[in-house]
Formats: sequence, structure tokens, C-alpha cells
Amino acid sequence: MASTLRLLLAVCPTVFLGLAVLAPTHAQTPAAPVSGIDAALSEDIVIGSRVLAEFGVVDGFGHVSARHPTNPNHFLMSRSLAPALVTADDIMEFDLDGNAIDPRGRSLFLERFIHSEIYKARPDVMAVVHTHSPGVIPFGVSEVPLRPMFHNAAFLAAGVPVWDIRKDFGETDMLVRDPSRGKSLAEKLSDKPVVLMRGHGDAIVGPSVKMAVFRAYYTDVNAKLQSQAIALGGDINYLTPGEGAKADAINFAVLDRIWNLWKMRIAPSLAK
Ligand code: MN
Repeated sequence: MASTLRLLLAVCPTVFLGLAVLAPTHAQTPAAPVSGIDAALSEDIVIGSRVLAEFGVVDGFGHVSARHPTNPNHFLMSRSLAPALVTADDIMEFDLDGNAIDPRGRSLFLERFIHSEIYKARPDVMAVVHTHSPGVIPFGVSEVPLRPMFHNAAFLAAGVPVWDIRKDFGETDMLVRDPSRGKSLAEKLSDKPVVLMRGHGDAIVGPSVKMAVFRAYYTDVNAKLQSQAIALGGDINYLTPGEGAKADAINFAVLDRIWNLWKMRIAPSLAK
């Protein structure tokens, strides 16, 4: 019986759970996001996760979260799933120690402490993305700092710190699997938008899910372009901090244009 239940859940979780928990009079009700979780914010997390997967910024790993819109001491993120598979039904609520408010026996991301500890340390942060994007890995393990190549990545002009887990924790499995590792990462991030994680990936923050996803995407694009520019040889003429500040302000103004394009690419029925 247990294996039959598991099979039903794997094949059709929404329908099966709907049949299991809803009264007969509600059996026709379409699946909805979990009660108490903001639907628009859940959609942003779903779209953001799928966009980053579509463009190779995340693969089977990586995650997108948002601070809870009415309780700043909670945040929302998916249960443990590949980002391309995340749906609104998978979004769960967590406290800032990384505990699920209603675990329901679901498996959770081991590295949710990246998110919980950044929300704890940075009241201004409303969304966090974690990736293992291929472009940034060389900059986490070399002496070459990641710097802004072009206007879309202007936010990098603030400086990009590199967190080395070995410095505080010795030889580990490299994962941010507890609050102390998350706290150390958040301290290295400081007041910046991006922190690289040596031999692992990066963590990106923003004032919204859309902006954090935008920054995660352009951090990877910038890193690849910078590697190309370094391969050309000679001096590189990066954006200055002043140019970075001015150009980043424009990114906020045009964010919806690219967000709607991305949404159309991965979910045409949701695009406006
Ligand atoms: Mn990771």
C-alpha cells in the first residue's frame, strides 16, 4: 500500500492530494497555492526558478526564495526539487532558523540556511537566489575579481566578495548545511548584491524576486564575458563604480520588460 501511495503521489500529486484532503463538495476546485502563501509571490518564485533553469544558470540544483510579504521573520521557498520542476504547490514557509512551518513530511533543501541567514543579516533583502552557474566558478577559485563588463551587470560595480568555506570550517562537503555556515556566508556578502562561494557557486540578493533573478542571470553572463575578455589579452576597461551606480538605476526601470519576455518563454499562458 505504501508503495502504491508513493506512486500515486509521484504521478499526480495535486489530484491525489486534492482527493485525499478535500471534502466531496470541493472536489472540482482547481489546485491552488498553499493557504496563507501569497499567490503572486509564489508565481514569481516559480517563474524565476524555471527561467534560471531555462537559461542554464541553475541545473538540477539551485534555488530561489522570497521574504514573506507580511512576516519579515519568515521566508518562502520550494521543497527540495530541481528548479525547472517547481510549482506553486511546492512553495513552503520557513522561519529564519531554516525550520519549515508546516513540513508535511516533505524533503527540504539542505542549503536553505543560505537564505535564512541572509534574511536574518540583511533586512533590506526581499529575495535570495543560489546557483552553481558555470560562468562564476572560475572567479570563486582564482585571484581574479569578478567586475562589471557591461551595463546589465552594473550591480557588480559594488564589488564581489568571495566566501571560502574552508577559512572558517576546514575541509567540508562544501555545502551550507547549517546556520553557522549560512551566517559566515552572510557576513562575507556584507551589504553587497552578490557573493561568490569558492568551489561551489554564488548567492545573489535583491529587493524583489524579479531583481534577484535578473542579477543571477547577468552575474553568470558577465562572468562568461569577462573570461572571454581576459582570454583576448591586454587591459580590460571595466565599468567604473560611478557608471555602475547610474546604469544599475536603469536596470530597475526596465526590469519588467525582460521579466515578461522570460515569462513568455517558459510559460506562455502566464505572459501578459
Ligand atoms: Mn549549492
